[in-house]
Amino acid sequence: MTRLLTSFIALLAVGLSAAARQPNVVIIFADDLGYGDLGCYGHPTIRTPHLDRMASEGIRFTQFYSAAEVCTPSRAALMTGRYPVRSGMAHNQFRVLRAVSTGGLPQGELTMAESLKSVGYRTGIIGKWHLGVWANDRPEHHPLNHGFDFHFGLMHSNDMNPSPKPKPKKANAQVEQDPEWWDAALYRGRELLVPRTDQTQLTRRYAEEAAKFIGESKDRPFFLYMPHTFPHTPLFASDRFKGRSPRGIYGDVLAELDWSVGEVLKALNDTGVADNTLVFFTSDNGPWTWMGAETGGSAGLLRDGKGSTWEGGMRVPGIAWWPGRIRPAVSDAVLTTMDLLPTVAKLAGAELPKDRPYDGKDASPVLFEGRGIERDVFCYYRGETLFAARLGDWKAHFITQGSYGDPKPVKHDRPLLYNLAVDPSEAHEISADHPDVVARLQAAVERHRATITPVRSQLIDVVAK
Ligand code: MG
Repeated sequence: MTRLLTSFIALLAVGLSAAARQPNVVIIFADDLGYGDLGCYGHPTIRTPHLDRMASEGIRFTQFYSAAEVCTPSRAALMTGRYPVRSGMAHNQFRVLRAVSTGGLPQGELTMAESLKSVGYRTGIIGKWHLGVWANDRPEHHPLNHGFDFHFGLMHSNDMNPSPKPKPKKANAQVEQDPEWWDAALYRGRELLVPRTDQTQLTRRYAEEAAKFIGESKDRPFFLYMPHTFPHTPLFASDRFKGRSPRGIYGDVLAELDWSVGEVLKALNDTGVADNTLVFFTSDNGPWTWMGAETGGSAGLLRDGKGSTWEGGMRVPGIAWWPGRIRPAVSDAVLTTMDLLPTVAKLAGAELPKDRPYDGKDASPVLFEGRGIERDVFCYYRGETLFAARLGDWKAHFITQGSYGDPKPVKHDRPLLYNLAVDPSEAHEISADHPDVVARLQAAVERHRATITPVRSQLIDVVAK
């Protein structure tokens, strides 16, 4: 009896210590932030001291990818650990969910929030959802029905509901935006707070809500997902930041976003949980260069931006921070947003279902041991179509098309080939010299295609007129 009791106590102790080790997870997801837009990624006039510090204390990734070239599919991939084409969250023509869309992330998909909630986490989303527009007849699309316990933010992008208010015709309207021009509805859970929120206050409010969420969650493991509204256009900053950056409004917006990252790290430190928290900062896709010099971001040395499968469309900043656990480094390991779900599920002790293919991999060896992970091919989709693929340092383009405003895809009978280790700008096409490499990439893509089961796109259906 005594022995039984002793074993029971020992088991309980193991269980408790395992539970105590479950780390908190914070994912900060900028919108349309380019590879070249942070101080620590080389921007000469954008100042991001908090992100720069996070990068110097953690790992700054130089080859980190979003899994899609635009918002909705990218978020679906982050939440599910799978290419968006598997969940129907991509479409060649309707590239993202619109305000009038009736589709959304299918309930059969397991989100990161659901996975972590299943092992005891408190889960919160603060910011832009964009995986389904919630309405009374579509309750399944609310983030509270996808594993989140707490929600504060917008249902979709900040430019999707232009307000009926007449807009004066001015040459610099793109730069000098008025919050009255956009009906950006702000929700707390299922409660509509205001149909036209003052977007100049959004980043500050997100930071305040995040600090509160962290303070309220300190007694159990938590997952905080912060998909920011900016620097997606239209751009707004509060008075404290507006007009301060030599980079103009885009720099003002990033300075405020950087401040809000600092507030989150401060809240983690003040609450005493920083040394048990993984924070990951990244972006949903490349910069919206089409927006012009002042309001579109920069992909730095990478080619093109948001909407394209050139590197600038999908290679984004990636910074991992966990004091005492992650050692400072710069890493050129190839990782993607799809790796985050398997990684945090493993850390939290959650099992992923075996009934579906996962495209993400547990990145713990890269994060905690300075080792690489084995990766097969990484595929670059534009909508539902596979345009390009990366294997090792090599990237082949089967179809190319510029970002927004470039109407015609070009199919390449002999795929274009680049060595990204040597030529990250994709400036020197070398397929003629390496037919064997092209063949290997083609075979890898065929292996990938064999795992894809076609599903109907969720992005097609809209509210009937
Ligand atoms: Mg975006």
